[in-house]
Amino acid sequence: MTQVPHYPMYIDGEWVDTAQCFEIINPATDELVATNAKGTVSNADRAVAAALRAHERGDWRNTPPEQRAAIMSRIVDRLNEKMDDLVDLHIAENGVTRKQAMAFHVGYSISHLQYFADLARTYEFERTGPVLSYPTAAVGVVRREPVGVVAGIVPWNFPLLLAVWKLGPALAAGNCVVLKPDEKTPLTLLELAKAADEAGLPRGVLNIVTGPGETVGARLAAHPDVRKVAFTGSTAVGKEISKLASENVKKVTLELGGKGPNIVLEDADIEQAVDGALFAFCLYSGQACESGTRLLLPESRYDEFMARLTARAAQIRVGDPNDFDTDMGPIISSEQKQRIEYYIELGQKEGATLAFGGKPLTGEPFERGNWVGPTILGNVDNSMKVAQEEIFGPVLVVIKYKTVAEAIAIANDTEYGLSAGVWGEDIDAALDVARQIEAGTVWINDWHMVNALYPFGGYKQSGNGRELGPHALDEYTEQKFVHIDLARKRENKVFDMMLPEYGAGA
Ligand code: NAD
Repeated sequence: MTQVPHYPMYIDGEWVDTAQCFEIINPATDELVATNAKGTVSNADRAVAAALRAHERGDWRNTPPEQRAAIMSRIVDRLNEKMDDLVDLHIAENGVTRKQAMAFHVGYSISHLQYFADLARTYEFERTGPVLSYPTAAVGVVRREPVGVVAGIVPWNFPLLLAVWKLGPALAAGNCVVLKPDEKTPLTLLELAKAADEAGLPRGVLNIVTGPGETVGARLAAHPDVRKVAFTGSTAVGKEISKLASENVKKVTLELGGKGPNIVLEDADIEQAVDGALFAFCLYSGQACESGTRLLLPESRYDEFMARLTARAAQIRVGDPNDFDTDMGPIISSEQKQRIEYYIELGQKEGATLAFGGKPLTGEPFERGNWVGPTILGNVDNSMKVAQEEIFGPVLVVIKYKTVAEAIAIANDTEYGLSAGVWGEDIDAALDVARQIEAGTVWINDWHMVNALYPFGGYKQSGNGRELGPHALDEYTEQKFVHIDLARKRENKVFDMMLPEYGAGA
């Protein structure tokens, strides 16, 4: 048997191994990539205890934000040095293509961590004022203090990036963190732990526990010493985490599923909108929560658009994700592939027409691994399950509309509200549509342009709270109001609402 690397987990500044292992499998080839420690509830408890000790010791929360930022920037430097390895690990463990791993999975992860380091330098951790003259003279100090131990639970699709979206604000705000990656994709997070260790992050401030969601993840969500849980994953698990976290009234942020409506207006530049629609649902084989998976076309341009869309879809190069020229790689697992195939079948039973793809891919590269090519279902009605349920694969459903008001109603007729898109040359008209869509992000004439400077998160069942943007640290801090009396004299205070004056009745 080929020797593969083994990764223990990282707790309290030490590498901790377990008797049992996970096998990390390459989704493009079915090959064993690595093994890693299969953590248990007691490992989760040990990690939380380490984070709590670090929090109580105070050497991170009492480090001035400038110095926290400097250590975070050193982690960024280390990640930059490891960039090629991080790209290779992503390709091997989650099947993303080289181009996309470089730009999004790794490129964004590094630049977003730097964004949070910079935010530590500029964030207002303490402010004074305004001065009060009524009912007595006083002034307030408002402090933003770390919550304590933060648990971050992340999925397999953007393992490093979604961990950075939790770790970055948590560290910048002075918290101690336990991260749990998905069982299939722990490797890049363990490399992050190495980078943090090398950068001199104090022990216990970052811990990474690799273990099953139902045991280790659930324990972190329920743990009485965890004060905040930040989760990205499915809506079903998000609801479960909310319940577990309510036991000790934890703060919770949830980034959940989506069914992004992509509205093409009559005046859209069709060439761009076609490519934009493909980019929206095919990036990382559609395994992104903010994908554009419901395309809404004006009836008058339906045939023209579909002809171009299917012609361009045929040009997408599916295959070896290692190859720089590949546009789309594999699906994460055989279970996920079967789920996608089930929906392609279901859509046709529900009355949709298979406009493109939807058949097993044939040829040498597809003999191993899990593959689904770009698939387009036409003539879909928004009430169909394929239009309402998240498929999490490269499957686009196309819906016709007659008026813009109808398009907006269809766009909003969903339990989700994560992302949306509008294509049109009249920007005022497109902006007017954007204002009426219930989603945390709306892109006009583009897609997937997540930016660290702006908030990201969902309306409705797509989640709670926002990641990224200048307010990201708000979600990782408690606010404290300190009232300082300026009246000083007894007669200037309102004590007499309850107490008699000095000497009265004595
Ligand atoms: P998932 O919910 O099954 O798993 C996500 C994480 O939760 C994993 O680490 C898993 O081990 C853990 N987990 C599973 N069961 C748990 C439990 N009972 N208690 C605690 N933790 C548990 O999701 P997935 O299949 O890995 O990812 C796909 C889903 O995630 C899709 O629905 C997608 O839309 C969503 N997603 C959302 C975003 C976003 O930002 N909104 C980003 C990526 C993925």
